[in-house]
Amino acid sequence: VFSMAEPLLHAFAKPTKTDFIRIVRGSGALLWDDKDNEYIDAIGSLWYSQVGHGNAEIAEAVAEQIRTLETYSIFDPFTNEMAEQLATKLVSLSPLPDSRVFLCGSGSEAIDTAMKLARVAHVQAGHPEKTIIISRNRGYHGTNYGGTSAQGLPLNKIGYGQLLPEVVQVDSDNIEDLATFMKDNGTRVAAIITEPLQGAGGVYPPADGYLEGARKLCDQYGALLIFDEVITGFGRLGTWFAANYYNVVPDLLCFAKGVTSGYQPLGGVFVGRTALNALERDPDFFLRHGYTYSGHSAVCAAALKNLEIIERDGLIERAKHVGKRLSDGLHSLAADGVIDSVRGAGAIWAAGLKPDQNCVTIRDNMIKRGVIARSINADTNAFCPPFVITDQQIDKLLDVFAAAAQGK
Ligand code: PLP
Repeated sequence: VFSMAEPLLHAFAKPTKTDFIRIVRGSGALLWDDKDNEYIDAIGSLWYSQVGHGNAEIAEAVAEQIRTLETYSIFDPFTNEMAEQLATKLVSLSPLPDSRVFLCGSGSEAIDTAMKLARVAHVQAGHPEKTIIISRNRGYHGTNYGGTSAQGLPLNKIGYGQLLPEVVQVDSDNIEDLATFMKDNGTRVAAIITEPLQGAGGVYPPADGYLEGARKLCDQYGALLIFDEVITGFGRLGTWFAANYYNVVPDLLCFAKGVTSGYQPLGGVFVGRTALNALERDPDFFLRHGYTYSGHSAVCAAALKNLEIIERDGLIERAKHVGKRLSDGLHSLAADGVIDSVRGAGAIWAAGLKPDQNCVTIRDNMIKRGVIARSINADTNAFCPPFVITDQQIDKLLDVFAAAAQGK
């Protein structure tokens, strides 16, 4: 019999667990817990901290907006200034030509939005038969029912009843699997959804030609290509978006996380011309989709300030430097036989472990030595630090990881 005294039911945790590390303070890439232990945040909390923790400029921007007006709805017939300003800024950065942006509160909501918009756009374009949504094994698209249905991580799908019909997964790397599915069902496919580089599933860059192949198949069968850039957006690969990095332009692009560096919860979807033309075709069509906090003013204020800081402080260039130093360090550990392999791009990297290494043990040993990384599956430790991490902090995280990986 265990104590049920904890009021907080934790996310992605055993409901019976009671001992958690309580982080109370942050500054840049550093964090402190309630016992005043210091940590380097080598994973950016949950892959989102582009500008680092404890940023007073963002705090001020949010406070100022709340003092004026916390927010007002953008449901018809209303709008608000911050939502409009942010939309203008975001669209100026969008890799989709002539796009518009839908705002919501999280990555999972962005995924639901993109799946719904893809289907309804086909209805509006006169193709109601196009309803199937294809995603890849190993993909992670959040935990709403849309993302739970679309994700390719089987453990996350167990126990939640029947998931969305007509959402199917194909092999994560072999484009032939996708091509075969399209050959048999292509006329009924609404969209292919994929992370350009798979993050939470283990940091897997796309196989050579995969994204280009998916783009081609979408064009061939009139399906929409959705990129889930919830992790890769806003500089993570050293470009604004992975679409820029891989030079493949999707029809819809989901983002969240780095758009505010986590200072406020925000997600969104860039909607490109193909879907927009369908949605704008009938002037009487009414888009019955939206969230209470779509375009929340204080959230948008945080995003605008975050984007301003990323640009002003040259953080996308910095991300390239951070990624190179991190990847050089990991590659030399692989060359020395400390780890099996290295995967990643830009400023997101993973160490593939050897069969006798355990990523949870390594993660826990690292935490004891003041570095927070992530363990994935059985064989991966992942790194996705804030772009403001210093060279010295990168070197320390590599040293700590090397020691933990060698069981020291
Ligand atoms: N998509 C990807 C690629 C993600 O990594 C995540 C979260 O990690 C999500 C979607 C879901 O985002 P959220 O947790 O904000 O709902």
